[in-house]
Amino acid sequence: MIPVAKPYLNDDEVKAVSEVISSGWVTQGPKVAEFEEAFAAYTGSPHACAVANCTVALQLAMLVMDVRPGDVVITVSHSFIATANAVRMCSAEPVFVDIDPDTFNMSPAKLEHMLAEECEQRSGGLYYKNVFALSSPETPFNHIEQQLGRVGAILVVHQMGLPCDMSAILPLAQKYGLPVIEDAACAVGSEISLDGGKSFEPVGKPHGDIACFSFHPRKVMTTGEGGMITCRSADVDARLRRLRHQGMDVSDLQRHESKKVCFESYSTTAYNFRMTDMQAAMGVEQLKKLPRMVVRRREIVEEYRRRLADLEHITCAAEPVYARSNWQSFTIRVNESSPRSRDEIMQLLMDSDIATRRGIMNSHQEEPYRNEIWSLPASEAARDNCIILPLYYKLTDQGLDLIVERLKAAFDG
Ligand SMILES: *Cc1c(COP(=O)(O)O)cnc(C)c1O
Repeated sequence: MIPVAKPYLNDDEVKAVSEVISSGWVTQGPKVAEFEEAFAAYTGSPHACAVANCTVALQLAMLVMDVRPGDVVITVSHSFIATANAVRMCSAEPVFVDIDPDTFNMSPAKLEHMLAEECEQRSGGLYYKNVFALSSPETPFNHIEQQLGRVGAILVVHQMGLPCDMSAILPLAQKYGLPVIEDAACAVGSEISLDGGKSFEPVGKPHGDIACFSFHPRKVMTTGEGGMITCRSADVDARLRRLRHQGMDVSDLQRHESKKVCFESYSTTAYNFRMTDMQAAMGVEQLKKLPRMVVRRREIVEEYRRRLADLEHITCAAEPVYARSNWQSFTIRVNESSPRSRDEIMQLLMDSDIATRRGIMNSHQEEPYRNEIWSLPASEAARDNCIILPLYYKLTDQGLDLIVERLKAAFDG
C-alpha cells in the first residue's frame, strides 16, 4: 500500500532520543532550548517557544494577542478543526471567511467585505454585527454576559503548506487595528514573498504578529506531537513561556543550574503545555533534514504537475507568485467535466493499493460549528471535489509512476 504520508525518521532520531533518555533529563530542559534556538535561526524569528502541540500553540497565541472571552476571531472554516477549536478554547467564537478556490486560503477580498460590511466600530473596538446569530449549544457565548462580538484577531491558515496572501491581508489588519495570527501548522519550510515574488522569507519570521507550527507526523517534520510559536516581541515570548509552564517565573533548567538557593514564584493562572526533551531531540534532527525534505517534496510535485498536465478532467494545485510551498499536501481538483466522481476515483486508487484523502475538511460542516449563517461555497467545493495524493520524502520513482498510471486509468476506464 502506498500511504498518503510517511515521516522520514532514521537512526539519527533514535540516537538523539536515546541520548536524552540516558542523560536523565527527559522533560522540558536543555534539548527544548536547543531546538528553540535552531528553529528561531531557521525561520529568522527573534523568538521561538516550544509547546505540546499546535492546537495549544494557537490557544496561547490568541491569549497573548489579547483575544478575550466573548470576542470573535475571523478565520477560515476550510482547515483542520483544531483551528476553530483553539478559538473556542479561548472562550471566543470563530467567524468564517471563505477561501480563494485557487489557493485554498482565506480570500483577501472576502475578508475585506467581512470587515467593512459585517463588522462595525463601537467604543472599545471593532464588533461583529451578527453576534447573536452565532448561537449553538457549545458556544462559550452562552455563558458570557459582557458585550459580545468584539473582533479579537484575524487567524489565517497557510493551508497544506501554501502561504496566504499576506501582502493583501496585512494592510487590512492594520487598517482595522487587528492582530494577525498565522496558523502555520503545515507550513514549516515554506517561503513567502511580500514584494510580488522578488524576495522570499521563511514562513514564521513571522509576517503576522505571531505564528504557530505543528510537528504532528502528518506534517513535514515531526516530533510525534509538538508545536512551536514564533514572534518578534520579547515581552510576548516571555508571556508565552510563563503560560506554558504554570505561570512560573523561572524555568526548571534555570533553577537546576543556579548556584544559589532560588525559589520560583507564579505570576499568572496558566497551563502545562510543555514539550519534552525527547521530542525536542527529534526536532533538532528533523530540522537538519528539513531543507532536503522540502527539496524532494518540491521535486515530486513538479513531476506530478508535469505528468498530469494533459489530464483534462483535473486541475493540479499551483503556487501563486508570492508563495513557495513545502507541499505538506498536494491536491488535485476533479473538474465538473469528469466522467467519474471524486469518490469513484479515490476508490479506484484504493483498489490499486494507493491511499488518498479527500480535500481539507470544513469546520462549519461539523456538528460543533454548524450554523445556517455560513455561506462558504468555495470551502465546500474544495472539500468535496479535491483529492490529496501520496507525497512523502521516500516516495520512489516507481511509486510515482504507479500513481500517475492508475490515476490516468481511473479517468479512461
Ligand atoms: C495539524 C493542524 C493543526 C493542529 O496541530 P496539532 O499539532 O495536531 O495540534 C492546526 N491547524 C492546522 C491547519 C493543521 O493542519
